[in-house]
Amino acid sequence: MNRNPWSQILLLLLLFPISLALNAQALSAPPAVSATSARWSLAIHGGAGTIPTNIPEAEKEQYLVSLRAALEAGKAILAGGGTSLDAVETVVRTLEDDPLFNACKGAVFTHDGTHELDAAIMDGRDLSCGSVAALTTVRNPISLARLVMEKSPHVFMVGTGAERFADEMRVPRVDPKYFDTPRRYEQWQAALKAETPEKAEQEKKDKDTVGAVALDVHGNLAAATSTGGMTNKRFGRLGDVPVIGAGTYANNRTCAISATGWGERFIRHTVAHDISALMEYKGMTLQQAADEVIHRKLEKGDGGVIGVGRDGSIALVFNSEGMYRGAADSSGRFEVAIW
Ligand code: ASP
Repeated sequence: MNRNPWSQILLLLLLFPISLALNAQALSAPPAVSATSARWSLAIHGGAGTIPTNIPEAEKEQYLVSLRAALEAGKAILAGGGTSLDAVETVVRTLEDDPLFNACKGAVFTHDGTHELDAAIMDGRDLSCGSVAALTTVRNPISLARLVMEKSPHVFMVGTGAERFADEMRVPRVDPKYFDTPRRYEQWQAALKAETPEKAEQEKKDKDTVGAVALDVHGNLAAATSTGGMTNKRFGRLGDVPVIGAGTYANNRTCAISATGWGERFIRHTVAHDISALMEYKGMTLQQAADEVIHRKLEKGDGGVIGVGRDGSIALVFNSEGMYRGAADSSGRFEVAIW
């Protein structure tokens, strides 16, 4: 064995810079969500707006049952190690099929008595995203949005072109009558008749949307949103939902956001991306950033957002009377609420 002290000193001197470099690299690497952590989080919404607190107990219970079922569907995927993308798509499909909510079955009527559906999905890993808008026959727009993201070179497809893409992808289409419900028909009729200044106010209220955001155990965030838009909306009107950065956004560096409310205002304020930007550039927490945008930038009654942060935190923030919502995570949280 070489016992020469000079050769040992020389060896230490040679190794010192290497160990310094390794330490520096460890310090400068961004704190990543551990790939082995079993932590997951999920938040869902079924729209925000003027929800009278005195709705009949049975009706309230129906909403809560539906929200719980959607939350369970997403929880099962995340708790089983599935991806956030699968979880948010599944939650949104569940709510799209539920006639209580304004997305697909149960969608609001346009001014012309039709339904025009918008949806978007985003993958926080690489900012890939897919949006569809002004669909009239696609049964589950959120799944078509995912196919736009994964199987097309594009980000946004609308109207008849998007429906041709649905056929290519063998996505089920339905007779538009499938989306009709008596409640939404009455809201449309009331909006048509109300030729008063209150009319605009009423149109703002008859809307809602469904959405989900999630963090999976692999550390990846995703967001998905789907809507029929606003009652009595004019031909070709698009809201914030399919506009990436307004109603839907996900970025593994910050958070995943899904919005609901008066779409025109959410587009002007690029609400979902603004929350992410406040976290990224100002170091705010998810809750602080969502409070800032919803309570200080928007106006009272505009709506709200659900968000999940890269650390698993959940924010459910709204400036309207209520927001149908739910939250679940790996620590055992499981709750739904309206007001
Ligand atoms: N944001 C949707 C839209 O403007 C409606 C809603 O969320 O209530 O289309």
